[in-house]
Formats: sequence, C-alpha cells, structure tokens
Amino acid sequence: MARTKIDKFDIVIVGGGVVGLAVAYQLSKNPAYAGRNVVILEREKGFGMQTSSRNSEVIHAGIYYATESLKATLCLKGRELLYDYCRRFEIPHARIGKLIVAQSGQESELEALESKAIANGVNDLRSIDRALLTRIEPALEASSALFSPSTGIVDSHSFMQSLLANAERRGVIFSHSTCVESIMPEDQGFLLSTLIDDGRSRQPYALRTKILINCAGLGALQLAAMAFGESELAVCDSSPQQRSALPEQLLSKGSYFDYTGSNPFTHLIYPLPDRENDALGIHATIDLSGALRFGPDAEWCDHIDYSVDPAKAVFFARSVQQYFPTLDPTKLKPSYAGIRTKLRVEGATSDFVIRNEEAAGLPCFINLLGIDSPGLTSSLAIAERVEALLAGAT
Ligand SMILES: Cc1cc2nc3c(=O)[nH]c(=O)nc-3n(C[C@H](O)[C@H](O)[C@H](O)COP(=O)(O)OP(=O)(O)OC[C@H]3O[C@@H](n4cnc5c(N)ncnc54)[C@H](O)[C@@H]3O)c2cc1C
Repeated sequence: MARTKIDKFDIVIVGGGVVGLAVAYQLSKNPAYAGRNVVILEREKGFGMQTSSRNSEVIHAGIYYATESLKATLCLKGRELLYDYCRRFEIPHARIGKLIVAQSGQESELEALESKAIANGVNDLRSIDRALLTRIEPALEASSALFSPSTGIVDSHSFMQSLLANAERRGVIFSHSTCVESIMPEDQGFLLSTLIDDGRSRQPYALRTKILINCAGLGALQLAAMAFGESELAVCDSSPQQRSALPEQLLSKGSYFDYTGSNPFTHLIYPLPDRENDALGIHATIDLSGALRFGPDAEWCDHIDYSVDPAKAVFFARSVQQYFPTLDPTKLKPSYAGIRTKLRVEGATSDFVIRNEEAAGLPCFINLLGIDSPGLTSSLAIAERVEALLAGAT
C-alpha cells in the first residue's frame, strides 16, 4: 500500500491571534530563519478572530503588574515596540493618555498603585488634584487621579493585518480553517494531525515540524496537554499523584457596552483596579473614531460564550456613575465580550508563562500560556522572547 506523503515544516506556530502573528513576523525578520518553512495554523476562517479582536485595544503603560513579572517587563518593552511599529507601518493609533481615578477615601490605594508603577519602571505618571481634573475632564467625578501619558489606543485589526502581511512577504504561510487535533512528539520534532474545515469540506491533514510554538490563546492549555500526552482531566486535577506539569486555567469573561450618548471624555478613564476579580475595573475606552464604550466587567466562567447579557446594563450604570455621574443609563447598549485566560498556580492567578519545554523532554516545544492582558501591548516583546528561547533550542 502506498504511504501518504506528509508535509514537513521547520516551524509550526499554532494560533493566528496577535501573539502568533507577532512571533511569525519576528522570526521572518531573523536571517537565521531565512529559507526555513514556517506555517501558522489557525482554526478560524481568518486571523485574530478570538481574544485579539475582543479586547479594549489599549496600549498599556505597565502600571498594574507584579514587579519583575513577565507582564510588567514585556508590557513596558512591548509598548515601545508597538508605538515604533505603528509609526513605521502607519497603523492607526493615538497616545491619548489615561486617568486612573480615586474617589474620596481611595487616595492611599492610588498612591500604592503609583509606587507599584514606579517599581515597574513607569516613570511618567503625574498626580492630578480635583481642581485640575475638573478643568481637564469636566464630566468626571473623582477626588484625585493619576495621569499616564504613555497609555494609548491602537487599531488592533490593522496591526495584525500588517504583521501577517510582513510575515507572508518573507515566506511565512498562513493556513486558516486548520484545527490542530493531536500532537505526537517524535525523535526529531512533532507529528501534527489537523482538520481543515472550510465550511464546504472537511479534510484531515497531517504534517511534521521540527519546532512547535503554541500561541493558541484560550486553546493553549489543551494544546500543551496534547503534546504532553495528558488528558484534560489530568491538567485540572490538583491531587499530588496526578499533578500535571501544566498549570490550571481559569476563564474570566469581560463584557462591553457601547455608549450612544455623546462622549464627554478626551482621555481613557479607569477606576481603581478590581482586585477581587483580578481585573482593571469597568473603564471608559475611546476608540479611534472617538466612540465611547464601557467595560470589561469580570465574570468567572467555565465555557466560551461571547453573548452580552443586556441585564448587566444596570450594574454597568451603577459602576460607571461613580466617576461619570451624568451617564444616561438608557444609552448603554450591549456590545461584545472577550474571555481572559488566567493561570492559577498555588491558589493565586499568575503571570504569563512563556517557556521552552526542555525540562519535560520537549526541547523544541515553546509554550505560551495565560497570555491575558496586557498581551496585545506586549505582543512584539513576547515575540522577541520566543525568538530568544528558540536561539537556545536550535
Ligand atoms: C476583555 C479583554 C480585554 C483586554 N484588553 C486588553 C487591552 O486593552 N490591552 C492589551 O494589551 N491586552 C488586552 N487584553 C489581552 C489581549 O487581548 C490578549 O492577551 C491577546 O489578544 C492574546 O492573543 P493571542 O494571540 O494569545 O490569543 P488569540 O487572539 O485568542 O489567538 C489564539 C488563536 O489560536 C487559535 N487556536 C486555538 N486552538 C487552536 C487549535 N487547536 N488549532 C488551531 N488554532 C487554534 C484560535 O482560534 C485563536 O485565533 C484583553 C483581553 C480581554 C479578554
């Protein structure tokens, strides 16, 4: 019987969200990978259709994250790389700045946040008192604020489109509608089974790769479990006998409401972070067309459901009216939702995990897990980190 020919690649990147695209772009620029076969496998019909198009599109300054965490260091580095990229490739963006506001009695929390930001290397924050706030943002109600001039907004779709075009120009292949269904480690790499489903036909397709980079976002833990030969049950089981090399993943849904009234703000407005839910609080974001939107809230969930419950408008109105008292609740309209992936290590939600799985016997497997916010801001710095990990592996 004739054996089916299996295509061979040097590098497979699973996931065509902003992180997978940034990794492809970064590797395509590196002369060490010139002439190598690189493919991005994406199960959706196009790039960036999951978390990368369901977020606030904010370029974060790096204020909130634990000192020396990957989130802190990659956010600071990534934000500058992203501003440079946007300038160089004419991606719509604006460094509009943001105000983090404290209500009466919350001033010490604001000070603690400022200290954290300084420890992270964010040295451009300015304290704003009530009188100045009233002049800058007359519709805002707060006792004081921190102004972050290096926070901005970006058109994430244009950014991703540009990353992909730049990578494709240097030979990277983008294979959409291609879902990775199983991974078999081999002596010299990995055998992947995929299903290509373009809506008209479903074709199994197998391929081999020397290097595998897991940028599968919400699906990353499942993909890592495939490569490790673990069942999903083992991944979530915390009993010592069955403890997995992989962390536990929690999902946190964030919904947004559009505001159809007029936008009184010229900056992004953030309340103090919602520490209980490991979220930034329901903030006011402005997109590049000047439209105002509120969100995301934070709701732990166990499956992916992007519908927005219109009944949440009451809670949104109550939260936002603390800093925007003249908000008209009838002008809040359900918009979209995104889902954050949060890793839990020893009971606490944790940092990004970006590692070469050499210790698990898979030296050419790069795993990116728990890439929640600020993953968009950090994407180009994450890509540089993956490149550095690969330099040790190849
Ligand atoms: C509500 C919310 C607000 C946020 N706001 C911000 C913000 O303002 N600023 C910021 O910096 N960050 C923000 N983030 C974080 C940011 O959006 C993410 O960190 C980033 O988009 C993650 O990109 P990704 O490429 O890792 O994941 P994704 O965009 O989800 O891409 C992963 C891709 O992998 C594909 N995939 C999964 N499994 C498979 C498989 N088996 N085979 C093939 N393909 C597969 C998926 O289809 C998907 O397209 C926010 C996140 C959320 C949820």
